[in-house]
Amino acid sequence: MLDYEVIVIGAGVAGIYQIKQLVDFGAKATVLEAAPDLGGTWYWNRYPGCRFDSESYTYGYSFSRELLDEWHWRERFSSQPENLRYLNHVAEKFDLRRHMQFNCRVEAAHYDEAANAWRLSLGDGRTLSARFVILTLGLLSIPTLPRLEGMDRFKGQSFHTFYWPNEGVELADKKVAVIGTGATAIQVIAEIADKVGTLTVFQRRPNWAAPLNNSRISDEEMADIRRRYDEIFATCARTPGGFEHEPDRRGFWEVQREERLKLWDRLYDEPGFGIWLRNFREIFTDEAANAEFSEYIAERIRRRVKDPKVAEKLIPRDHGFGVQRVPLETYYYEAYNRDNVQLVDISETPIECVTETGLRTTERAFDFDIVVYATGFDAITGAYDHIDIRGRGGETLRDKWNDGPTTFLGMMIHGFPNLLMPSGPQSGSASTNYPRGIETGVNWCTKLLGYMRDHGYDRAEPTAAAETRWTEHVKQMYSMMLMRKAKSWFTGYNSNVPGHEQGRIRYFVYNGGAPKYVSTINKVADSGYEGIVFAPTDATGHGDLAAMPGSESRIQVV
Ligand code: NAP
Repeated sequence: MLDYEVIVIGAGVAGIYQIKQLVDFGAKATVLEAAPDLGGTWYWNRYPGCRFDSESYTYGYSFSRELLDEWHWRERFSSQPENLRYLNHVAEKFDLRRHMQFNCRVEAAHYDEAANAWRLSLGDGRTLSARFVILTLGLLSIPTLPRLEGMDRFKGQSFHTFYWPNEGVELADKKVAVIGTGATAIQVIAEIADKVGTLTVFQRRPNWAAPLNNSRISDEEMADIRRRYDEIFATCARTPGGFEHEPDRRGFWEVQREERLKLWDRLYDEPGFGIWLRNFREIFTDEAANAEFSEYIAERIRRRVKDPKVAEKLIPRDHGFGVQRVPLETYYYEAYNRDNVQLVDISETPIECVTETGLRTTERAFDFDIVVYATGFDAITGAYDHIDIRGRGGETLRDKWNDGPTTFLGMMIHGFPNLLMPSGPQSGSASTNYPRGIETGVNWCTKLLGYMRDHGYDRAEPTAAAETRWTEHVKQMYSMMLMRKAKSWFTGYNSNVPGHEQGRIRYFVYNGGAPKYVSTINKVADSGYEGIVFAPTDATGHGDLAAMPGSESRIQVV
């Protein structure tokens, strides 16, 4: 007798919706969450300045009209505390907490072939079993620290932004260091520059950033948004990024330069990702188009930063605008105009070590009260690597994905039956407005369970051929994008994770855009799940699934 029909791991945005669907579906299911409470990203990241860069009303769940009608987003890009309140509200409204277990770290998940069951070992010593495991582990849930000598020697306060202390940090008059200039650092730096004594930013490579242009949402605006929700979600569904922002479909080179400049001037002042996603599509694929636009943004940075030397240091040289995920900012560049803020270029003078009182670069020593590591994540597959996941024949997922993930539709893995990932590597979620992607993934996974229930199947596994075909398709899309050349978490680069520092590409995300992804996975479902082999209840525990009739995929991935 199994403990559960389905165990979901992770109670973030994806896990919350997944358990809602499973409860509605009537499955005996639970969510196991390592944190003391729900919320995932929005539970952990409590650093100052943490907020959405998706329009709030496109980030919320779309599944309940009542929920849409009663929630008032207060800001166009709402902040972490409000986002966490929202997720708690959802859990309470739909009575989901009673299906969640907190402080439950899953250490191992092994597939027991004879029983067709997953057996999970938890950090508290318990073991649990389930027919299905659904992984909603988050894309950026394993923070990474630099590998610097002496990090435990520092006598002041130091932490990764992911673990910004719950009780807050006393910043007034403090000497603060921030290491990193990614999206997180850009939010923190802008927010704390006027609240600290001094702020020293250690930058290895600058990022291209553009204004967020946030604003309050009045009662009247919210009423209007509520009236337009259907239209808003329909727009999100037809745009590649799952946002309201639709690309400019005119050809970059067919539009006069003056016209291009006019468009960019307008987009720079508009809220959100418009500057990236309402732009010409060639920005993503054509070196010359990208270079011209990057130079436009460089000029904007020069206009905002008073010291020309600092401005030049803030302009990326190794990649163009938008080939890494674009951080959005509020007075980030202006922070460098303050007397108490200093930029240290550690590509010129690397950090040698952490000392008892601060940091030492090859040039000099710095004293700090607080060192903030805004140094990113073991992205996409990191959370999977942290669990000892073993499939058929004891194969470990860590070994299978050693050179990068291979999946079927980003949601299933050959050799790992009944393991589902609504927002897995190579799925449509990572590269889109996340909740729009996860709703798609969760719905698809739940529908698959329904199909299995209706047909008397209790085991599902994609074929090796279907997985290869999907992974090749994902790779092929990278080959068309300038992003393949960038050292970022989209290509699996992380200097702090052994094996991820050489810049070998890992094909982490699906780049075909939300509409194409949705139509492809729906086609698979409509075809009776071509590419997936099912076993009926009475057949489990017998024979080799890969050798069963029908195991050859017929799915055409386009
Ligand atoms: P990130 O983009 O990976 O940036 C990490 C930063 O730390 C980079 O500047 C990196 O430099 C630096 N760094 C890493 N290791 C270092 C080392 N050993 N020595 C010196 N510098 C080091 O991580 P993130 O800023 O946390 O952002 C990750 C993603 O989270 C974003 O792309 C975004 O998707 C999401 N996010 C979203 C929001 C939002 O607005 N909703 C806010 C924050 C984050 P290099 O570039 O040289 O590696």
